[in-house]
Amino acid sequence: MSEKQVKKDEEKEALNLFLSTQTIIKEALRKLGYPGDMYELMKEPQRMLTVRIPVKMDNGSVKVYTGYRSQHNDAVGPTKGGVRFHPEVSEEEVKALSIWMTLKCGIANLPYGGGKGGIICDPRTMSFGELERLSRGYVRAISQIVGPTKDIPAPDVYTNSQIMAWMMDEYSRLREFDSPGFITGKPIVLGGSQGRETATAQGVTICIEEAVKKKGIKLQNARIIIQGFGNAGSFLAKFMHDAGAKVIGISDAHGGLYNPDGLDIPYLLDKRDSFGMVTNLFTDAITNEELLEKDCDILVPAAIANQITAKNAHHIQASIVVEAANGPTTIDATKILNERGVLLVPDILASAGGVTVSYFEWVQNNQGYYWPEKEVAKKLRNVMVNSFETIYQTAAAHKVDMRLAAYMTGIRKSAEASRFRGWV
Ligand code: GLU
Repeated sequence: MSEKQVKKDEEKEALNLFLSTQTIIKEALRKLGYPGDMYELMKEPQRMLTVRIPVKMDNGSVKVYTGYRSQHNDAVGPTKGGVRFHPEVSEEEVKALSIWMTLKCGIANLPYGGGKGGIICDPRTMSFGELERLSRGYVRAISQIVGPTKDIPAPDVYTNSQIMAWMMDEYSRLREFDSPGFITGKPIVLGGSQGRETATAQGVTICIEEAVKKKGIKLQNARIIIQGFGNAGSFLAKFMHDAGAKVIGISDAHGGLYNPDGLDIPYLLDKRDSFGMVTNLFTDAITNEELLEKDCDILVPAAIANQITAKNAHHIQASIVVEAANGPTTIDATKILNERGVLLVPDILASAGGVTVSYFEWVQNNQGYYWPEKEVAKKLRNVMVNSFETIYQTAAAHKVDMRLAAYMTGIRKSAEASRFRGWV
């Protein structure tokens, strides 16, 4: 396939993601009894900034990167959401992801609306210095519309606590006062929260614990396949292994490893590189597509979007699918899985742990008083268990699937806030 064709397919995928998000938002608002005007407000972000960031490269040349920051709805409070560094970032994708952040914050009952940012770049090919200059350039470019009480960035795909530290430092210099509350996911010494790094995986773990209870399965010895070995996937593999579950499959961008007797997770975690790559060290790796269809009890897509589609949904053998990635299952595939009685825990619920602990981080920054890890873990568990139960009950009460129930739960707070403010 030519490079142009690949780019076109990626653009189409991002557009589909955005359109399917709009479709479910429309249905959720209709089910909640809101007039069409509310959908008109919610179907697009309120604000979308596109920036061009010149960066001096190590070889002396200048490269100009394109970045975005999207703010979906700020009726509840400041907007909140990560910044991703990835070659496939697009305007449509960032827009869709910012809407999902509104939903995640609504589900976890946080005082935020949704935001998201992204830069089209490939951090795997960039030096530390180039990444630092790009991160600082991005903050300078978007500084007018972000801030601790406006819009609070965080890590996302291929961004980490070091990048958050550079961004926080740049913002603090611009404003001429220390501003830890400008960004979350920072290193602990710069005001980061205990438990933030593992928060997404912790949230997914709690969803798995709740889901197995509903299905009458024991987590001990349950067979789990995890697609993706990045921040969420790798910590999740560790937590599942520690809980006595059998992790029988994992994968990364290169391929998958499968062993029905269980994989040596501590060894794989040790060998994994900083971009989550490990399967390239093995000669018996299978493809990601093959891995998804292997026999297991719980399947966790923790990598990228559109992995479970109408093409393979009939072949998924798991009885529980927990979406740790954003948008891994298409609308058609969701329908098929539901008809087949698979319990599908949707992305906006399962991956809400990250932003929840980000909120705790921001609260700690604002009060200048820091909590021990145990307290963070307890508070996160409360939020996740309540969110899971609310959505499970909403699905039963309205006779809808968990995804629509999650959208209904997630959009309600922003819709109510918009109504009280007199916007609709
Ligand atoms: N990027 C993460 C997400 O998509 C975390 C966002 C945050 O912590 O604000 O949920």
